[in-house]
Amino acid sequence: MSRNPFETALNTLRSAGEKGGIDPKVIELLSKPKRIMEFTIPMRMDNGEVEIFTAYRVHCNDALGPVKDGTRFMPNLTIDEVKALALWMTIKHAVGGIPAGGGKGGIICDPSAMSKWELERLTRAYMRKLPLKGAWVDVPGADIGTSAQTQAWMLDEYEEIMGFHSPAAINDKPAEVNGTVGSHEATGLGAFYVMMEAVRDAGLEVGCTVAVQGFGQVGATAARLLFDAGFKVVAVSDIKGAVYNAEGIDIAALEQHVEETGYVVDFAGTKPISNEELLEMDVDLLAPAAVQSVINDENADRIKAKLIAECANGPVTTAAEKILLEKGIMIVPDVVTNVGGAIACHFERIQGLTDDYWSMDKVKEKLNGRMLTAYRETIAAAKEFDVPLRVAAWINALRKISAAVKMRGWV
Ligand code: NAD
Repeated sequence: MSRNPFETALNTLRSAGEKGGIDPKVIELLSKPKRIMEFTIPMRMDNGEVEIFTAYRVHCNDALGPVKDGTRFMPNLTIDEVKALALWMTIKHAVGGIPAGGGKGGIICDPSAMSKWELERLTRAYMRKLPLKGAWVDVPGADIGTSAQTQAWMLDEYEEIMGFHSPAAINDKPAEVNGTVGSHEATGLGAFYVMMEAVRDAGLEVGCTVAVQGFGQVGATAARLLFDAGFKVVAVSDIKGAVYNAEGIDIAALEQHVEETGYVVDFAGTKPISNEELLEMDVDLLAPAAVQSVINDENADRIKAKLIAECANGPVTTAAEKILLEKGIMIVPDVVTNVGGAIACHFERIQGLTDDYWSMDKVKEKLNGRMLTAYRETIAAAKEFDVPLRVAAWINALRKISAAVKMRGWV
């Protein structure tokens, strides 16, 4: 099987298109990005030397609305990765009912090896040199290597160039510069809303046993919400290892421990286990919220959970999914489970365009509604086409994109 991320994304696209009876011309259009931008950024570093950075921005398809999504600053970024992520965001926005196309971009660089001021100069230069930008064309957000701070710089640079304020031109900004409240929690919160529904559909009960892999922005938020809702979270992990308690872990106290020590390991009253053991644990709900491909053809036959909610991107490989589905395990795919972050970006845009900034209660209420719609549309498509939930989510998205593409007369 190809390890090229764009090839992998295209395989999923073509297979869902075929199963969902989507016009092959629409699939062909989606398999070729609308625009691929590659540009160089020469920049003087703190030591006086000039370094030349390579930057990208890809617009996959914008039939549903202006292009939006993340910016990766990382040393091993490739154009195929950016193309794959842009396609994937096109699908995700459609899954979430968001009127936006999919885009992605980034710079080949190592932010950890740069001073804060070098990072600021590079971020601002990216905005200056980005050929197409603005609230109605392309709205860059954060991703690996970027942060609320880089997004604040991007916004400031864009507004300096334009000569007017335009908060909807950049996403993932801090609340201090016209961002939205709740953006940090949105993905974990959205995943929690979906898990509450999926638990019932899988024939489980609220309060069943849970294991969560990854205790970062997404995993820690989801674990805390599940704990507060009465679930028995028996195992939690991070990159250093996992902790287990058959009676359930006090997630509020664990958060305190992580704040003090940085990691979940050595939390009082728990037994140390490995990340592999956590994944293979006999629990009702397994929430992988760390990295991709952790459930693969090597461990799939040892997975005992009845329900897997993909909080991370791509934690279950294609080969593993086949084995898990044969075992009757329900898998809620990433494009549904973790679409909450993209939905929060849409809320950020609405607030920026209207100058009407929402309360956390309003964000939660609106997020809940959209998450449940995305989940239920996926369940309905799975029944209609007799396909697994991942394929169903893609078919649901492709139908929306296809309708817009055809109405616009593009095919
Ligand atoms: P994060 O960096 O805040 O947290 C990641 C956590 O996973 C950390 O606790 C880390 O120690 C742990 N981890 C890393 N490698 C691990 C490994 N090999 N085994 C076990 N644990 C490991 O990241 P995050 O923002 O919470 O993102 C987690 C996943 O969710 C990623 O796949 C990301 O792409 C996806 N995602 C995040 C968002 C978002 O809004 N943050 C949105 C959509 C998808």
